[in-house]
Amino acid sequence: MFFQSLDKKELAELVRTVDIRARERLAGARSRQLFKWFYRKGVTDFEAMSDVSKELRAWLHQNAPPYSIREKNRQTSGDGTIKFLWELDDGNTVESVIIPAGEPGDEEDADSGGAGRVTACISSQAGCAMNCAFCNTGHAGFERNLEVHEIIGQVLAMQRAAENAVPITNIVFMGMGEPLLNLENIIKACDILLDGDGLNFSRRKVTVSTCGIVPAMAELGSRCPVSLAVSLNAVTDALRDKLMPVNKKWNIKSLLAACRKYPLGPKRRITLEYVLLAGINDSDDDARMLARLVRGMPVKINLIRFNAFAGAVLDAVPLQGPSAGRARKFQEILMSSHIVATQRASRGADILAACGQLRNSQTSRVISP
Ligand code: SF4
Repeated sequence: MFFQSLDKKELAELVRTVDIRARERLAGARSRQLFKWFYRKGVTDFEAMSDVSKELRAWLHQNAPPYSIREKNRQTSGDGTIKFLWELDDGNTVESVIIPAGEPGDEEDADSGGAGRVTACISSQAGCAMNCAFCNTGHAGFERNLEVHEIIGQVLAMQRAAENAVPITNIVFMGMGEPLLNLENIIKACDILLDGDGLNFSRRKVTVSTCGIVPAMAELGSRCPVSLAVSLNAVTDALRDKLMPVNKKWNIKSLLAACRKYPLGPKRRITLEYVLLAGINDSDDDARMLARLVRGMPVKINLIRFNAFAGAVLDAVPLQGPSAGRARKFQEILMSSHIVATQRASRGADILAACGQLRNSQTSRVISP
């Protein structure tokens, strides 16, 4: 167990069993104190927590030490995007990315924090079992779920890395893995991210992205209604079955029904991610059909031009991204149907910034320290 494995309630339970003076009513206050030292003040040495009893500090040192994720590689793009490759204790590797503030006037930014936004994109699993055709992580297979301390560890390490720059303002679970297949750990990690004595992010600044695990969407909504993004990518089940095998279990109709039921705060929308694939899902008809599918729903469609990588094929044909003009036309058709549609700015194109690319490029060679 590590300190970052515990939410505040669990920490209070432990304090109750360890700190004799705090056994009853003081345990909650003690756990708040510990959280504030660790997450708000960034003090990870228990000895420096001057108002915590000696007995408790010694116990924490022995039984719940701070977890530190190991940085294996880092690439910084000319546009300020920083991609990290972390090595976990069992040798598995996962990625995170810091994506800097957008340009003023960027529609996507205006909805989620403006030009001062700095987003940390984090992983929820080592690898992924969902096998989406357009995703490099999916091609590498599944290893295991990440533990809570490994999820929080990514955020803390990136906060330290960004220390002298702009602080992280938004967290998105859009790195490696399907977060809703690691639901208990994601909810606990979100509790720590949202806790006012913890990392203190607001619900609207934390986004969980799913490929469409329908029952878990309802569970997340009822237990921890953070912002939701859904990877859609097709307007017919026939195509989505091929692009995203999860569709064979939960089709577009059931996915959009789950979106309609997801609890949203005032003026909030679900983000529907749509990776544009040249000649496959990017026609004018696709755009019109997409507009019809989501009409009346509180959604924003985020268009992403596919970032090609070796091995990305559909029906033995290599996948390609469309031209900027085609993507713009697709967006215009949506907007003319009064659908909010943005294009994700392409970040970190020079550093293998697409999901899974850095990890996959590193799996067969030794990295210098
Ligand atoms: S897109 Fe997401 S769910 Fe699909 S294979 Fe990649 S990481 Fe997994």
